[in-house]
Amino acid sequence: MKSVITIDGPSGAGKGTIARLLAKKLGYRYLDTGALYRAVAWKVMKAKIKLDDEETLKKLLDKTDIAFNGDMITVDGIDITSEIRTAEIGELSSQVSAIPVVRQGLFSIQRNICLQGKVVIEGRDTGTTIFPESGNKFYLDAGVEERARRRYEEMKLKDPSITRETTIEDIRRRDLRDSSRKTSPLKRTDDMIYIDSTNLSIDEVVEKIIESLKK
Ligand code: C5P
Repeated sequence: MKSVITIDGPSGAGKGTIARLLAKKLGYRYLDTGALYRAVAWKVMKAKIKLDDEETLKKLLDKTDIAFNGDMITVDGIDITSEIRTAEIGELSSQVSAIPVVRQGLFSIQRNICLQGKVVIEGRDTGTTIFPESGNKFYLDAGVEERARRRYEEMKLKDPSITRETTIEDIRRRDLRDSSRKTSPLKRTDDMIYIDSTNLSIDEVVEKIIESLKK
């Protein structure tokens, strides 16, 4: 049976770690949709395009090849997997993701992967916009301080300039932008199973999801 498991939620809720592990356990593919927005941000930064210049942005997207293969993401054949995990790209990706032409441009990449089935897809709008017909939708959450703590632990070695205070400010700003934008905002719907991971281990969250899966 073709199946798509969607996991949405705010920054730092643990979606990436959980989705990757879940996919491994089930023998499914894993699609990190945030990496696609980060890839667009990387390209926008390299091309030095202004975010309010939608026409140039659309032209740039039309001729950019973004591919996701397992854990590796490439833009026009260049492996940018480790380059996109910086605070700067995180912030820029949150800004580009609010632009409708960007969301439209990335829609079909995500939708086509879902149509192939057997995939765990995670992001902000995977259960609401990308694959709303999924029978297995989850919303993964955690308290803002815990999410900032996790993000800080993940980022501090790569980016020594960040502090706990700037991380929590970043998370709050991105939460607000993600949930208040007009196009496909982050939203929890009634057909999503809600999991608060603040006091749960990674394995406990994965177990909860597996127990709740509908055939
Ligand atoms: O999850 P991650 O932090 O890598 O995502 C980077 C940014 O991409 C997020 O801050 C969010 O604004 C955006 N995003 C989105 N829709 C998705 C996935 C990510 O708007 N489905």
